[in-house]
Amino acid sequence: MDTQVIIVGGSYAGLSAALMLGRALKKVVIIDKGVRRNIQAHESHSYLTRDGENPNEIARIAREEVRKYKTVSFLDDLVTTVKQNENKTFSVLTEKNGTLTAYKVVLAYGVKDEMLPIPGYTDCWGNTVFTCPYCHAYEFAQKTIGVLLSGDMLLSMIKLILQWSTSLVVFLNGGTINQEHENIISKLKIPIVRESVKEIAHQNGKVKHVVIGNGKTHDVDAILAVAPFHLNNSQIVTDLGLALSEPFKLINVDAFGKTNIKGVFAAGDCATFVAQMSVASALGATVGVIAHKELVEEEFAELIQNV
Ligand SMILES: Cc1cc2nc3c(=O)[nH]c(=O)nc-3n(C[C@H](O)[C@H](O)[C@H](O)COP(=O)(O)OP(=O)(O)OC[C@H]3O[C@@H](n4cnc5c(N)ncnc54)[C@H](O)[C@@H]3O)c2cc1C
Repeated sequence: MDTQVIIVGGSYAGLSAALMLGRALKKVVIIDKGVRRNIQAHESHSYLTRDGENPNEIARIAREEVRKYKTVSFLDDLVTTVKQNENKTFSVLTEKNGTLTAYKVVLAYGVKDEMLPIPGYTDCWGNTVFTCPYCHAYEFAQKTIGVLLSGDMLLSMIKLILQWSTSLVVFLNGGTINQEHENIISKLKIPIVRESVKEIAHQNGKVKHVVIGNGKTHDVDAILAVAPFHLNNSQIVTDLGLALSEPFKLINVDAFGKTNIKGVFAAGDCATFVAQMSVASALGATVGVIAHKELVEEEFAELIQNV
């Protein structure tokens, strides 16, 4: 077996792990199907040295940097599952390239956001419809922001987004709100629109207004929307027997990115709810170092045994 580490997912987390391992001369294969979580965003923020840059450009530069390391190779493919073998190696099954085997596996395959079935929602996603205030709210500071959310999480999102703008409109989209929260929101004089949202009217992904069921429109500059997200591939989790963390059912890892299965690591959005490119990169780099350390220990033990 030639490959030492297989990395599933070649974005910010996976490439950071690969950079570390490539610089340590390890034989690494990155398998990536190329659909990053923020692929639709025109601008990304909070990534030091690249604030405001197109995230696809950052990913392109990252890939180019990693490509310099000759022991690292790339496969444009989809991993369908990963299985642990009896000799403690791992078999990684792919759609186009059959089965690959390695001593260590790094899961850096991110999460998938569910799009709300509202016309215009997907077109504006990542630009004027956003889910993370730290990434996109600054650009809409003191502008009118719609909050498209209902249920118990609504009040905490309002608390947060008030840091950027006091001009808010809540769209419950037919959902519910508890009375105590409604009283607090009303005290703040934030309008609550109960009807379902019929459309997000926009021009090239730039929100113009929200159309509700009765045809009435509400002008907004941006929309904060919190929709469900889930791991990109749950078969891997089931087949490896990986433990998940609460409340988001992400891969449970320790501070070094180790999962409950020795030899399997996870980094980035699939292992933390702090969805930031910088965090994904840092966790990827951490996992790169720790996976390398495990390989060093194992290789050294074998060396000593054989001398
Ligand atoms: C709309 C939006 C805007 C955002 N804006 C910002 C921002 O401004 N600043 C910021 O710091 N963060 C931003 N984020 C968060 C950021 O996108 C994530 O934190 C970051 O992409 C996580 O990196 P990652 O490497 O963990 O996963 P991803 O970047 O999602 O990459 C995962 C990779 O794994 C691949 N993959 C998945 N499953 C498989 C499989 N089975 N086989 C092979 N490959 C697979 C995917 O195709 C993808 O290439 C934003 C997120 C969203 C949704």
